Amino acid sequence: MPPVPPVPPVPSASPVPPEHAADIARLLAMAVAGIGGAERPGQVAMARAVQTAIETGEHLAVQAGTGTGKSLAYLVPAAVHAISEDATVVVSTATIALQRQLIDRDLPRLAAAIAPALGREPVFAILKGRRNYLCLQRLRGGPADDQDEALFDPGAVSAIGRQVQRLHEWAATTKTGDRDELVPGVGEPAWRQVSVSARECLGAQRCPFGTRCFAELARDDAGRADIVVTNHALLAIDALEDFDIFPEHDVVIVDEAHDLVDRVTSVASDELSAAAVEVAARRCGRMIEEKAVARLRDAGLGLERMLADVPEGRMDMLDEALASALESVRDAAAGCAAEFRTSAQNDEEPDRLAARRAALAAVGDAADAAERILGAFGPAIADRPDVVWLDRPSAEESGRPSTLRVAPLRVGGLLASRLFRPRTAGLTSAPARATTRASRDGNTRWPGRELTSGPRSTTRAAESCTLPGTFRRRGATASPTPTWTRSPSSSRQRAAVPSGCSPRCGRRARRPASCAGG
Ligand code: SF4
Repeated sequence: MPPVPPVPPVPSASPVPPEHAADIARLLAMAVAGIGGAERPGQVAMARAVQTAIETGEHLAVQAGTGTGKSLAYLVPAAVHAISEDATVVVSTATIALQRQLIDRDLPRLAAAIAPALGREPVFAILKGRRNYLCLQRLRGGPADDQDEALFDPGAVSAIGRQVQRLHEWAATTKTGDRDELVPGVGEPAWRQVSVSARECLGAQRCPFGTRCFAELARDDAGRADIVVTNHALLAIDALEDFDIFPEHDVVIVDEAHDLVDRVTSVASDELSAAAVEVAARRCGRMIEEKAVARLRDAGLGLERMLADVPEGRMDMLDEALASALESVRDAAAGCAAEFRTSAQNDEEPDRLAARRAALAAVGDAADAAERILGAFGPAIADRPDVVWLDRPSAEESGRPSTLRVAPLRVGGLLASRLFRPRTAGLTSAPARATTRASRDGNTRWPGRELTSGPRSTTRAAESCTLPGTFRRRGATASPTPTWTRSPSSSRQRAAVPSGCSPRCGRRARRPASCAGG
């Protein structure tokens, strides 16, 4: 992982004029009345703090107890900013429950309540990764060949088949194609048969369902929205990749911020198993030279043999034989990918194009993961940005393959340069969760000033702390992670942000720019 460049100093921000603070309290009161609640001091204080952060361009971290009404405290200033500045605000959550609360309950009522004061209703939309939406092309064309290991298990096939049948019935009625709206839900193997990753998508221009595509429609809605609600995973993809998923935005609000680091780490991780290599080889089928596919299959078998002798857990050294097996997988998968690229034709019919995309995605993932795992052992142990470990299934998980996993040790630097530097960020969480997280990461207390305190909860704003995952007081560490409180979020400073500094950009840049991620 390249070193993260230091954040340039930002001049001290001036305080928000008192009349703006009064406005936000009045609008919050309208919103609270619209929802049918009662005014709470912590909520008003938090709304003013969010308003100040947005106006001054300084980052803000707030912990507020249950019952504070955090969502209205950030949604009201977010709506004011979006409408008055003709801008977009992105609001990210960790859980589906909170997303649903914002989209189904808080935002519709808030929009109606404050519309008279703002001149119009704020427009809002929800946007998730492409894998979260039903893919009409895959639904019609059928799954990629043997796309999931579970399909090798005859016992699992009938259960998956019933779920897929239910998905076909649901597809005829759903208006959003959003997986989270299917109740009860289906397992991952069934869902994968009717959805695609961004790498597998044909692209709206070439797809026969491009104009009706659920993922594309959600993206269009997001493009017209003042407030876009999303999840931490998509926020991470947008931040780490070199293409834009969300409309241009200068403010991001992260609720349930205690989960952000884990979600970002997950997005920035890779995995490789012999089963995944076999799946990639099956997907290649007869679309490319048989010799290239046989080489990939042999490389997968070689990896399987090697992994059988590797102890479970963290790997600090890479055995020569395992390194050779990984090189074979990388080279064979890259060879297949090259064959696909050279044999590509512009006028391929959609089903064949979809099969090629699915195979190309699988061999690309295998080659990238093998390359990243090999590269992780290059630097001295103390300097390694990634950690590698073998995840071996327990006796009860016989269907799951032994898997090599690779993940970044720290994501604070990535978040600093890719998410927080270009825009103003407001992060909020419940105190217990924030402090638990802080303690786990070596901090002993939440550094901040009290906004309000009451018998049930205290609302606090961090005045000076490093990025999530460390939660340390500014200046207490020589870490390259900058503080939250000085946000280079003006357009002048934004222009100075270097591009392409993500260690993942070389890999992800291959995704089409129109992808909704995931
Ligand atoms: S555009 Fe992509 S996600 Fe949408 S239907 Fe087509 S292939 Fe599926």
